[in-house]
Amino acid sequence: MRHLWLTSCRCLIALVLAATTLPTAVAAQADPRLERLKTEALAMVEQRSEMVQEIVDMLFSFGELGMQEFETQRYLTGILRENGFDIELGVAGMPSAWTARWSHGAGEPVIALGSDVDGIPQSNQKPGVAYRDPILPMAPGHGEGHNSGQAVNIVAALAVKELMERENIDGTLLIWPGIAEEQLAGKAFFVRDGVFEGVDVNLFTHVGSNFGVSWGQSGGNALVSALFRFTGETAHSASAPWRGRSALDAVMLMAQAWEFKREHLRPPERSHYVIVDGGDQPNVVPQTATIWFFFREVDYERTMEMYEAAKQMAQGAALMTGTEVDTIQTIGSAWGRHFNRPVAEVTHANISRVGLPAWSEDDVMFARAFQREMGVNEQGLPSEVNDLGGPTDLSRSTGGGSDDIGDVSWNMPTVTLNYPANMPGGPGHNWANGIAMATPIAHKGSLAGAKVQALTLLDLFLDGTTVDAAWSYFNDEQLAETTYTPFISETDQPAIFLNEEIMAEWRERMRPYYYDPSRFDTYLEQLGITYPTVRRPPTLQQQ
Ligand SMILES: [Zn+2]
Repeated sequence: MRHLWLTSCRCLIALVLAATTLPTAVAAQADPRLERLKTEALAMVEQRSEMVQEIVDMLFSFGELGMQEFETQRYLTGILRENGFDIELGVAGMPSAWTARWSHGAGEPVIALGSDVDGIPQSNQKPGVAYRDPILPMAPGHGEGHNSGQAVNIVAALAVKELMERENIDGTLLIWPGIAEEQLAGKAFFVRDGVFEGVDVNLFTHVGSNFGVSWGQSGGNALVSALFRFTGETAHSASAPWRGRSALDAVMLMAQAWEFKREHLRPPERSHYVIVDGGDQPNVVPQTATIWFFFREVDYERTMEMYEAAKQMAQGAALMTGTEVDTIQTIGSAWGRHFNRPVAEVTHANISRVGLPAWSEDDVMFARAFQREMGVNEQGLPSEVNDLGGPTDLSRSTGGGSDDIGDVSWNMPTVTLNYPANMPGGPGHNWANGIAMATPIAHKGSLAGAKVQALTLLDLFLDGTTVDAAWSYFNDEQLAETTYTPFISETDQPAIFLNEEIMAEWRERMRPYYYDPSRFDTYLEQLGITYPTVRRPPTLQQQ
C-alpha cells in the first residue's frame, strides 16, 4: 500500500537530511504566513455559519440509516462538486459511499477529513423539544448526532481551499463519509479497498458535548459483528411437528449457550444480539432463522476468541436441533482506536484557541430541562474545553463502545476531534440524543468545530513539521508492538442490504419533512417549533 511506501520514503528523507550539512531547520520551519492565515481562516469559517446551519439541518431532516445514506450523498456531493471537488460515488463497494477530492500544486500532503453520516432506528424526534415528541413515531432519526460532522469538515475545507488557491499552497483535501458507523460496517472496507491510499493524515470528527481530542490507545473495545443463519425444514406445527426441524430452535439454543458463556468472560467484554429472522408464523416450523451478534473485547485477539467460540456454539446448536449452519457472515468490525500524538497536540492547541461557543440563556435552559427529563445531573452546557486526553491502560479497561475509525487509525496517523454540538446527559442511540441536533446548540458547536478543523488543516499544510512527526510517532511508537490484522477477509463484502427494508418503509413518508432552506431560515422554523420547548422550565439559578 502506498502509505507504507510513503512511510519508508519519509524515513529516507529524514536520514538524508540528517546526514547532510544542509540547515535542517529550513525543512522544519513554519511558513511565515501561517499565523496570519489562521486568523483569516477563523473569519472565513464564521462567514459560512449559514452553510453550517443548512448542512446540519438538512442531514437531520433526511434521518437516513446506515448503507442507505443516498439523500445525504446526493446533497453533500452536490455542494462539493459545485465547489470544484472531484467526486467518486460508490467507493469500496458501498453504493451510498463517496469521496470528494481537490488538489492544488504538487498535491502533497494529502489530508483526509471524515465524519459519520448515518442515523439510529426509531429515534425520530422533533428538534428543540425536551421530551419525547417524534415528527413520525417509530421512524429513523439522528439519535446520535451524525448529521453534524460533515458540516464541520466541509465548511473547514472550503475556507482552507480558498486560502490555498489564493496563497498557492500545495496539498490535497479528501472528504469522506463514515457509512453505516452504527453497524461498524464501513471503514474497514474503505481501508481494505485503498480509499485512503496516499493519505498523510486523517482528521476524523465526531459529535460530542464538549471539545476534546486524545492521543494513544483510547478506551472502548474492538468489535466483530456477525450474522449466523440456520436452516431446517418446515412442517405443520400442530398436525406434524415431528416432521419439522426448527432453525429458530438453533438460534435460541445458541443465544442460551452465549448467556452461559458470559459468566466466564472478562469484565471488559460486551456482547449483544438480536434475532433478525425468527420464522414467519407459529404454525409453520421455521425453516430459516438468523441471529445477529456483536462481540466486543479490548483487542483483536480477545475479540476473535469470542467470535471463534460463537462459531463452535453455532455448530453445537445445529447438532442439537438437526439443522444446519447455513451462513456465518462478518458484517462489521472495528479495531480499538489509537490516535496520533503530534496531530492531537496540534488539534488541542487549536481547540484552546477557538474555545467553546457563547451559549445563550435559551441553550442552557434547554439543556437543563433535558437533563431534568433524563433524571441526570442538571449541569447545563460546558463552560471549559476538555484537557488533551492521553492513553488508556487496556489491562485495566472495563470496556465500552467501539468505532471503526479504529481501523483507519492503525493504517495512518489519525485523530478524532469531538466538537460541542450536543448536550451532556443522553443515554446514546436514543431520541434524546437527537433533540439538540438541529438547534442553535448544534449550529454553534459545529461552527466552532469547523474553526478547529480549518486551523489544524493550515498547521498540517504550512507548519513544516507535524506531518513528519505524525509518521514518526505512527511508525516508531504506535506500530512498535502491534501489527494490524483486519477482522474482515479479502473476500468479505460490505453488508449493503442493511436497513434497506426500514428505509423502504419510511423514506417517502419522511420526504415531506425534508428541510427546505429556500423557504425557511432554519429547520425549527419549518417545523413551527418554538425553541426551546420544555415541559417544566428549570430555574437557571438553581445548582
Ligand atoms: Zn457515532
